[in-house]
Amino acid sequence: MSVTINDSYLLLQDGYLFVEIARRLENFQKENPDKSVIKMGIGDVTKPLPKTVIKAFKDAVEEMGDPDTFKGYGPEQGYSFLAETIIKNDFKPNGVNIDTDEVFISDGAKCDTGNIQEIFGLNNKICVTDPVYPVYVDTNVMAGRGGSITNDGTYKSIVYMPCTEKNNFIPELPKEPVDLIYLCFPNNPTGTTLNKKQLSNFVEYARENNSIILFDAAYEAFITENNVPHSIYEINGSKEVAIEFRSFSKTAGFTGTRCAYTIVPKELYGLDSKGEKVSINKLWNRRQTTKFNGVSYPVQKAAEATFSPEGRKEIRENINYYMENAKIIIDKLTDLGLNVYGGINSPYIWVKTPSNMKSWDFFDLLLNEANIVGTPGAGFGLSGEGYLRLTAFNTLENTKKAMTRISKIEL
Ligand SMILES: *Cc1c(COP(=O)(O)O)cnc(C)c1O
Repeated sequence: MSVTINDSYLLLQDGYLFVEIARRLENFQKENPDKSVIKMGIGDVTKPLPKTVIKAFKDAVEEMGDPDTFKGYGPEQGYSFLAETIIKNDFKPNGVNIDTDEVFISDGAKCDTGNIQEIFGLNNKICVTDPVYPVYVDTNVMAGRGGSITNDGTYKSIVYMPCTEKNNFIPELPKEPVDLIYLCFPNNPTGTTLNKKQLSNFVEYARENNSIILFDAAYEAFITENNVPHSIYEINGSKEVAIEFRSFSKTAGFTGTRCAYTIVPKELYGLDSKGEKVSINKLWNRRQTTKFNGVSYPVQKAAEATFSPEGRKEIRENINYYMENAKIIIDKLTDLGLNVYGGINSPYIWVKTPSNMKSWDFFDLLLNEANIVGTPGAGFGLSGEGYLRLTAFNTLENTKKAMTRISKIEL
Protein backbone atom coordinates (compact mmCIF):
# COMPACT_ATOMS: atom_id res chain seq x y z
CA MET A 1 0.00 0.00 0.00
CA SER A 2 1.47 3.35 -0.96
CA VAL A 3 -1.42 5.60 -1.86
CA THR A 4 -2.39 7.85 1.00
CA ILE A 5 -5.53 9.94 1.18
CA ASN A 6 -6.29 13.50 2.15
CA ASP A 7 -6.77 12.94 5.88
CA SER A 8 -8.81 16.11 6.20
CA TYR A 9 -11.72 14.24 4.58
CA LEU A 10 -11.83 12.04 7.68
CA LEU A 11 -12.70 15.09 9.76
CA LEU A 12 -15.96 15.57 7.86
CA GLN A 13 -19.17 14.60 9.59
CA ASP A 14 -21.36 12.28 7.57
CA GLY A 15 -24.30 13.62 5.64
CA TYR A 16 -26.20 12.62 8.74
CA LEU A 17 -29.09 15.09 8.49
CA PHE A 18 -30.90 14.06 5.32
CA VAL A 19 -30.03 10.39 5.77
CA GLU A 20 -31.58 10.41 9.23
CA ILE A 21 -34.69 12.24 7.97
CA ALA A 22 -35.11 9.64 5.23
CA ARG A 23 -34.65 6.82 7.76
CA ARG A 24 -37.30 8.18 10.14
CA LEU A 25 -39.69 8.83 7.26
CA GLU A 26 -39.25 5.31 5.92
CA ASN A 27 -39.92 3.80 9.35
CA PHE A 28 -43.04 5.91 9.72
CA GLN A 29 -44.36 4.91 6.28
CA LYS A 30 -43.71 1.23 7.01
CA GLU A 31 -45.77 1.43 10.18
CA ASN A 32 -48.41 3.72 8.67
CA PRO A 33 -48.77 2.72 5.01
CA ASP A 34 -52.16 4.47 4.71
CA LYS A 35 -50.91 7.92 5.84
CA SER A 36 -49.90 10.47 3.22
CA VAL A 37 -46.95 12.52 4.37
CA ILE A 38 -46.46 16.14 3.25
CA LYS A 39 -42.85 17.09 2.68
CA MET A 40 -42.12 20.56 3.98
CA GLY A 41 -38.41 19.97 4.20
CA ILE A 42 -37.64 20.28 0.49
CA GLY A 43 -34.88 22.70 -0.37
CA ASP A 44 -35.67 22.43 -4.06
CA VAL A 45 -38.06 24.29 -6.32
CA THR A 46 -41.07 22.37 -7.64
CA LYS A 47 -42.44 24.62 -10.43
CA PRO A 48 -41.29 23.70 -13.96
CA LEU A 49 -39.18 26.04 -16.10
CA PRO A 50 -41.22 28.90 -17.59
CA LYS A 51 -42.34 28.68 -21.26
CA THR A 52 -40.08 31.50 -22.41
CA VAL A 53 -37.05 29.78 -20.92
CA ILE A 54 -37.95 26.46 -22.53
CA LYS A 55 -38.36 28.16 -25.94
CA ALA A 56 -34.88 29.74 -25.74
CA PHE A 57 -33.43 26.46 -24.47
CA LYS A 58 -34.95 24.51 -27.41
CA ASP A 59 -33.96 27.10 -30.01
CA ALA A 60 -30.38 26.94 -28.78
CA VAL A 61 -30.40 23.15 -28.99
CA GLU A 62 -31.56 23.51 -32.64
CA GLU A 63 -28.61 25.85 -33.27
CA MET A 64 -26.28 23.15 -32.00
CA GLY A 65 -27.67 20.78 -34.65
CA ASP A 66 -27.05 23.14 -37.55
CA PRO A 67 -23.53 23.29 -39.07
CA ASP A 68 -23.85 27.07 -39.54
CA THR A 69 -24.64 27.80 -35.91
CA PHE A 70 -23.03 24.87 -34.12
CA LYS A 71 -20.83 25.81 -31.17
CA GLY A 72 -17.97 23.90 -29.61
CA TYR A 73 -16.17 25.06 -26.50
CA GLY A 74 -17.38 28.44 -25.30
CA PRO A 75 -15.47 30.85 -23.07
CA GLU A 76 -14.71 29.27 -19.68
CA GLN A 77 -16.04 32.44 -18.04
CA GLY A 78 -19.34 32.22 -19.93
CA TYR A 79 -20.67 33.95 -23.04
CA SER A 80 -20.60 37.73 -23.01
CA PHE A 81 -24.25 37.89 -24.12
CA LEU A 82 -25.19 36.43 -20.73
CA ALA A 83 -22.66 38.42 -18.69
CA GLU A 84 -23.92 41.66 -20.28
CA THR A 85 -27.56 40.77 -19.66
CA ILE A 86 -26.76 39.94 -16.03
CA ILE A 87 -25.02 43.29 -15.49
CA LYS A 88 -27.83 45.21 -17.16
CA ASN A 89 -30.61 43.52 -15.20
CA ASP A 90 -29.17 42.42 -11.86
CA PHE A 91 -26.81 45.29 -11.06
CA LYS A 92 -27.31 48.48 -13.15
CA PRO A 93 -30.85 49.11 -11.81
CA ASN A 94 -29.41 49.15 -8.25
CA GLY A 95 -26.71 51.60 -9.25
CA VAL A 96 -23.94 48.98 -9.26
CA ASN A 97 -21.32 49.01 -12.02
CA ILE A 98 -19.82 45.63 -12.89
CA ASP A 99 -17.48 44.90 -15.82
CA THR A 100 -18.03 41.81 -17.96
CA ASP A 101 -14.65 40.39 -16.91
CA GLU A 102 -15.83 40.46 -13.30
CA VAL A 103 -18.67 38.02 -14.11
CA PHE A 104 -17.86 34.29 -14.04
CA ILE A 105 -20.73 32.12 -15.24
CA SER A 106 -20.79 28.61 -13.82
CA ASP A 107 -22.92 25.53 -13.33
CA GLY A 108 -23.78 26.31 -9.74
CA ALA A 109 -23.33 28.44 -6.66
CA LYS A 110 -22.69 25.27 -4.67
CA CYS A 111 -19.50 24.56 -6.63
CA ASP A 112 -18.47 28.22 -6.71
CA THR A 113 -18.94 28.76 -2.96
CA GLY A 114 -17.17 25.42 -2.47
CA ASN A 115 -14.31 26.02 -4.90
CA ILE A 116 -13.52 29.64 -4.10
CA GLN A 117 -11.53 28.74 -0.96
CA GLU A 118 -8.81 27.02 -2.99
CA ILE A 119 -7.38 30.30 -4.28
CA PHE A 120 -6.80 31.42 -0.68
CA GLY A 121 -3.99 30.39 1.65
CA LEU A 122 -4.47 27.56 4.11
CA ASN A 123 -3.58 29.83 7.01
CA ASN A 124 -6.68 32.01 6.55
CA LYS A 125 -9.13 32.13 9.44
CA ILE A 126 -12.63 31.15 8.30
CA CYS A 127 -15.77 32.64 9.81
CA VAL A 128 -19.33 31.38 9.28
CA THR A 129 -22.77 31.95 10.73
CA ASP A 130 -24.30 29.26 12.92
CA PRO A 131 -26.63 27.71 11.67
CA VAL A 132 -24.96 27.50 8.28
CA TYR A 133 -25.21 26.12 4.73
CA PRO A 134 -22.82 23.15 5.25
CA VAL A 135 -20.89 23.65 1.97
CA TYR A 136 -18.86 26.57 3.37
CA VAL A 137 -17.64 24.61 6.37
CA ASP A 138 -17.09 21.24 4.71
CA THR A 139 -15.06 22.56 1.79
CA ASN A 140 -12.72 24.36 4.19
CA VAL A 141 -12.44 21.24 6.33
CA MET A 142 -11.53 19.25 3.21
CA ALA A 143 -8.81 21.77 2.46
CA GLY A 144 -7.43 21.49 5.99
CA ARG A 145 -8.67 24.78 7.47
CA GLY A 146 -11.05 23.23 10.01
CA GLY A 147 -8.59 22.13 12.65
CA SER A 148 -9.63 19.37 15.00
CA ILE A 149 -13.24 18.54 15.63
CA THR A 150 -14.64 19.19 19.10
CA ASN A 151 -17.20 17.17 21.08
CA ASP A 152 -20.07 19.39 20.05
CA GLY A 153 -19.28 18.88 16.34
CA THR A 154 -17.75 22.29 15.72
CA TYR A 155 -14.25 22.78 14.30
CA LYS A 156 -11.58 24.36 16.47
CA SER A 157 -10.10 26.64 13.82
CA ILE A 158 -13.41 27.95 12.46
CA VAL A 159 -15.07 31.01 13.98
CA TYR A 160 -18.84 30.67 14.35
CA MET A 161 -21.27 33.57 14.62
CA PRO A 162 -24.42 32.32 16.38
CA CYS A 163 -27.73 33.50 14.89
CA THR A 164 -30.61 32.93 17.28
CA GLU A 165 -33.77 34.59 18.63
CA LYS A 166 -31.51 36.38 21.14
CA ASN A 167 -29.78 38.47 18.50
CA ASN A 168 -32.72 38.48 16.10
CA PHE A 169 -30.62 36.28 13.79
CA ILE A 170 -28.23 39.19 13.16
CA PRO A 171 -24.70 37.79 13.50
CA GLU A 172 -22.42 39.82 15.74
CA LEU A 173 -19.14 40.91 14.20
CA PRO A 174 -16.34 38.46 15.01
CA LYS A 175 -14.45 39.40 18.17
CA GLU A 176 -11.16 38.06 16.84
CA PRO A 177 -9.65 38.97 13.46
CA VAL A 178 -10.89 36.66 10.69
CA ASP A 179 -9.93 36.51 7.02
CA LEU A 180 -12.73 34.94 5.03
CA ILE A 181 -16.31 35.61 6.12
CA TYR A 182 -19.12 33.58 4.57
CA LEU A 183 -22.46 35.37 4.62
CA CYS A 184 -25.68 34.08 3.07
CA PHE A 185 -28.55 36.56 3.05
CA PRO A 186 -31.47 36.00 2.70
CA ASN A 187 -30.31 33.09 4.81
CA ASN A 188 -30.62 29.38 4.33
CA PRO A 189 -31.74 27.90 6.73
CA THR A 190 -33.21 30.70 8.90
CA GLY A 191 -34.90 32.70 6.12
CA THR A 192 -33.85 35.92 7.86
CA THR A 193 -31.99 38.84 6.26
CA LEU A 194 -29.70 41.75 7.00
CA ASN A 195 -30.78 45.29 6.23
CA LYS A 196 -28.43 47.80 4.55
CA LYS A 197 -27.01 49.07 7.84
CA GLN A 198 -26.36 45.59 9.23
CA LEU A 199 -24.61 44.46 6.05
CA SER A 200 -22.65 47.74 5.99
CA ASN A 201 -21.25 46.84 9.41
CA PHE A 202 -19.73 43.70 7.92
CA VAL A 203 -18.30 45.61 4.97
CA GLU A 204 -16.78 48.10 7.39
CA TYR A 205 -15.33 45.26 9.48
CA ALA A 206 -13.84 43.66 6.35
CA ARG A 207 -12.30 46.96 5.27
CA GLU A 208 -10.77 47.54 8.70
CA ASN A 209 -9.45 43.99 9.10
CA ASN A 210 -8.45 43.33 5.47
CA SER A 211 -10.92 40.45 5.32
CA ILE A 212 -12.90 39.23 2.33
CA ILE A 213 -16.64 38.59 2.51
CA LEU A 214 -17.98 35.69 0.46
CA PHE A 215 -21.58 36.78 -0.04
CA ASP A 216 -24.06 34.12 -1.12
CA ALA A 217 -27.11 35.85 -2.61
CA ALA A 218 -28.80 32.71 -3.94
CA TYR A 219 -32.15 33.88 -2.51
CA GLU A 220 -32.06 37.58 -3.47
CA ALA A 221 -35.04 37.16 -5.82
CA PHE A 222 -37.24 36.35 -2.82
CA ILE A 223 -36.62 39.72 -1.14
CA THR A 224 -39.83 41.69 -0.70
CA GLU A 225 -38.77 44.39 1.77
CA ASN A 226 -37.22 47.66 0.59
CA ASN A 227 -34.39 48.04 3.04
CA VAL A 228 -32.86 44.64 2.27
CA PRO A 229 -29.91 44.75 -0.15
CA HIS A 230 -30.14 42.41 -3.16
CA SER A 231 -26.41 42.70 -3.72
CA ILE A 232 -23.57 43.40 -1.31
CA TYR A 233 -22.28 45.85 -3.93
CA GLU A 234 -25.12 48.20 -2.98
CA ILE A 235 -22.93 48.96 0.04
CA ASN A 236 -20.28 51.60 -0.64
CA GLY A 237 -16.72 50.31 -0.56
CA SER A 238 -17.73 46.67 -0.81
CA LYS A 239 -16.05 46.03 -4.15
CA GLU A 240 -12.68 46.07 -2.38
CA VAL A 241 -13.79 43.41 0.10
CA ALA A 242 -16.51 41.16 -1.35
CA ILE A 243 -17.16 38.35 -3.79
CA GLU A 244 -20.82 37.68 -4.59
CA PHE A 245 -22.44 34.41 -5.62
CA ARG A 246 -25.75 34.26 -7.47
CA SER A 247 -27.69 31.37 -8.91
CA PHE A 248 -30.55 30.78 -11.33
CA SER A 249 -31.48 27.71 -9.26
CA LYS A 250 -34.00 29.11 -6.80
CA THR A 251 -34.66 32.30 -8.76
CA ALA A 252 -35.70 30.69 -12.01
CA GLY A 253 -36.13 27.00 -11.31
CA PHE A 254 -32.69 25.98 -12.62
CA THR A 255 -31.84 23.46 -9.87
CA GLY A 256 -31.80 20.66 -12.45
CA THR A 257 -30.69 22.82 -15.40
CA ARG A 258 -27.60 24.30 -13.69
CA CYS A 259 -26.53 27.91 -14.13
CA ALA A 260 -25.09 30.41 -11.69
CA TYR A 261 -22.53 33.18 -11.62
CA THR A 262 -19.95 34.74 -9.36
CA ILE A 263 -18.82 38.36 -9.29
CA VAL A 264 -15.13 38.82 -8.52
CA PRO A 265 -14.33 42.56 -8.55
CA LYS A 266 -11.02 43.73 -9.96
CA GLU A 267 -10.58 45.92 -6.86
CA LEU A 268 -10.07 42.78 -4.77
CA TYR A 269 -6.54 41.81 -3.69
CA GLY A 270 -4.89 39.24 -1.46
CA LEU A 271 -1.28 38.98 -0.36
CA ASP A 272 1.22 36.37 -1.52
CA SER A 273 3.79 34.88 0.87
CA LYS A 274 6.15 37.76 0.12
CA GLY A 275 3.49 40.27 1.08
CA GLU A 276 2.87 41.42 -2.52
CA LYS A 277 -0.66 42.26 -3.66
CA VAL A 278 -2.24 39.75 -6.05
CA SER A 279 -5.50 40.27 -7.96
CA ILE A 280 -8.18 37.85 -6.77
CA ASN A 281 -10.01 38.31 -10.08
CA LYS A 282 -6.94 37.11 -11.99
CA LEU A 283 -6.50 34.12 -9.70
CA TRP A 284 -10.13 33.04 -10.05
CA ASN A 285 -9.90 33.48 -13.79
CA ARG A 286 -6.79 31.28 -13.83
CA ARG A 287 -8.52 28.68 -11.68
CA GLN A 288 -11.66 28.58 -13.82
CA THR A 289 -9.83 28.46 -17.16
CA THR A 290 -7.77 25.55 -15.84
CA LYS A 291 -10.43 23.49 -14.12
CA PHE A 292 -13.69 24.42 -15.84
CA ASN A 293 -14.86 24.46 -19.45
CA GLY A 294 -17.94 26.61 -19.22
CA VAL A 295 -21.69 26.07 -19.04
CA SER A 296 -23.40 24.59 -22.08
CA TYR A 297 -24.61 27.08 -24.69
CA PRO A 298 -28.30 26.10 -24.53
CA VAL A 299 -28.28 26.51 -20.74
CA GLN A 300 -26.77 29.98 -21.04
CA LYS A 301 -29.40 30.91 -23.65
CA ALA A 302 -32.08 29.60 -21.28
CA ALA A 303 -30.59 31.69 -18.45
CA GLU A 304 -30.55 34.76 -20.73
CA ALA A 305 -34.27 34.25 -21.41
CA THR A 306 -35.04 34.63 -17.70
CA PHE A 307 -34.28 38.35 -18.18
CA SER A 308 -36.64 38.88 -21.13
CA PRO A 309 -39.81 40.80 -20.22
CA GLU A 310 -41.96 37.69 -20.61
CA GLY A 311 -39.41 35.52 -18.80
CA ARG A 312 -39.21 37.91 -15.88
CA LYS A 313 -42.99 37.91 -15.58
CA GLU A 314 -43.19 34.11 -15.54
CA ILE A 315 -40.41 33.81 -12.97
CA ARG A 316 -42.01 36.41 -10.77
CA GLU A 317 -45.28 34.45 -10.85
CA ASN A 318 -43.48 31.32 -9.61
CA ILE A 319 -41.72 33.21 -6.82
CA ASN A 320 -44.98 34.87 -5.80
CA TYR A 321 -46.59 31.43 -5.66
CA TYR A 322 -43.92 30.19 -3.23
CA MET A 323 -44.12 33.38 -1.20
CA GLU A 324 -47.89 33.01 -0.89
CA ASN A 325 -47.21 29.56 0.61
CA ALA A 326 -44.69 31.14 2.97
CA LYS A 327 -47.31 33.64 4.13
CA ILE A 328 -49.87 30.90 4.77
CA ILE A 329 -47.31 29.04 6.89
CA ILE A 330 -46.29 32.11 8.89
CA ASP A 331 -49.88 33.23 9.50
CA LYS A 332 -51.06 29.82 10.65
CA LEU A 333 -48.09 29.03 12.89
CA THR A 334 -48.20 32.50 14.45
CA ASP A 335 -51.91 31.96 15.07
CA LEU A 336 -51.04 28.74 16.87
CA GLY A 337 -48.72 30.67 19.16
CA LEU A 338 -45.44 29.53 17.67
CA ASN A 339 -42.48 31.87 17.17
CA VAL A 340 -41.64 31.88 13.48
CA TYR A 341 -38.90 33.71 11.58
CA GLY A 342 -38.00 34.19 7.94
CA GLY A 343 -40.50 33.59 5.17
CA ILE A 344 -40.79 37.28 4.28
CA ASN A 345 -37.71 37.67 2.08
CA SER A 346 -37.10 33.96 1.68
CA PRO A 347 -38.86 30.67 0.97
CA TYR A 348 -37.64 29.33 4.34
CA ILE A 349 -39.53 29.51 7.61
CA TRP A 350 -37.53 28.94 10.79
CA VAL A 351 -39.80 27.72 13.56
CA LYS A 352 -38.86 27.87 17.24
CA THR A 353 -39.91 24.56 18.75
CA PRO A 354 -42.70 24.79 21.35
CA SER A 355 -41.79 24.30 25.05
CA ASN A 356 -38.07 24.24 24.24
CA MET A 357 -38.33 20.85 22.57
CA LYS A 358 -35.23 19.54 20.85
CA SER A 359 -35.26 19.91 17.05
CA TRP A 360 -35.50 16.15 16.50
CA ASP A 361 -38.31 15.73 19.05
CA PHE A 362 -40.34 18.39 17.28
CA PHE A 363 -39.52 16.72 13.96
CA ASP A 364 -40.91 13.42 15.33
CA LEU A 365 -43.99 15.13 16.75
CA LEU A 366 -44.82 16.73 13.39
CA LEU A 367 -44.18 13.50 11.52
CA ASN A 368 -46.18 11.26 13.86
CA GLU A 369 -49.08 13.57 14.72
CA ALA A 370 -49.46 15.74 11.61
CA ASN A 371 -47.65 13.63 9.02
CA ILE A 372 -45.46 16.55 8.01
CA VAL A 373 -41.73 16.39 7.37
CA GLY A 374 -39.60 19.41 8.26
CA THR A 375 -35.83 19.73 8.65
CA PRO A 376 -34.44 19.74 12.21
CA GLY A 377 -32.53 22.96 12.79
CA ALA A 378 -29.88 21.14 14.82
CA GLY A 379 -28.67 19.63 11.54
CA PHE A 380 -27.42 23.07 10.43
CA GLY A 381 -25.27 23.75 13.47
CA LEU A 382 -25.23 24.07 17.25
CA SER A 383 -27.34 27.23 17.27
CA GLY A 384 -29.95 25.53 15.11
CA GLU A 385 -30.91 23.34 18.08
CA GLY A 386 -34.45 24.15 19.18
CA TYR A 387 -35.57 25.15 15.69
CA LEU A 388 -37.08 23.44 12.65
CA ARG A 389 -37.01 24.59 9.03
CA LEU A 390 -40.10 24.48 6.86
CA THR A 391 -40.03 25.46 3.20
CA ALA A 392 -42.53 27.11 0.91
CA PHE A 393 -41.62 24.96 -2.09
CA ASN A 394 -44.58 22.58 -1.86
CA THR A 395 -47.86 23.13 -3.73
CA LEU A 396 -50.44 25.58 -2.40
CA GLU A 397 -52.85 22.68 -1.79
CA ASN A 398 -50.33 20.71 0.25
CA THR A 399 -49.21 23.78 2.16
CA LYS A 400 -52.80 24.51 3.19
CA LYS A 401 -53.41 20.87 4.04
CA ALA A 402 -50.25 20.78 6.16
CA MET A 403 -51.33 23.86 8.10
CA THR A 404 -54.77 22.34 8.78
CA ARG A 405 -53.07 19.23 10.09
CA ILE A 406 -50.75 21.18 12.37
CA SER A 407 -53.62 23.17 13.83
CA LYS A 408 -55.22 19.91 14.98
CA ILE A 409 -52.32 18.70 17.09
CA GLU A 410 -51.47 19.53 20.68
CA LEU A 411 -48.47 21.88 20.70
C1 LIG B 1 -29.67 26.40 -3.20
C2 LIG B 1 -28.52 27.18 -2.71
C3 LIG B 1 -27.54 27.61 -3.59
C4 LIG B 1 -27.63 27.34 -5.09
O1 LIG B 1 -26.80 26.32 -5.45
P1 LIG B 1 -26.72 25.89 -6.99
O2 LIG B 1 -25.50 25.03 -7.01
O3 LIG B 1 -26.57 27.13 -7.81
O4 LIG B 1 -27.97 25.12 -7.31
C5 LIG B 1 -26.48 28.36 -3.11
N1 LIG B 1 -26.41 28.69 -1.80
C6 LIG B 1 -27.35 28.29 -0.92
C7 LIG B 1 -27.24 28.73 0.49
C8 LIG B 1 -28.43 27.52 -1.35
O5 LIG B 1 -29.35 27.14 -0.47
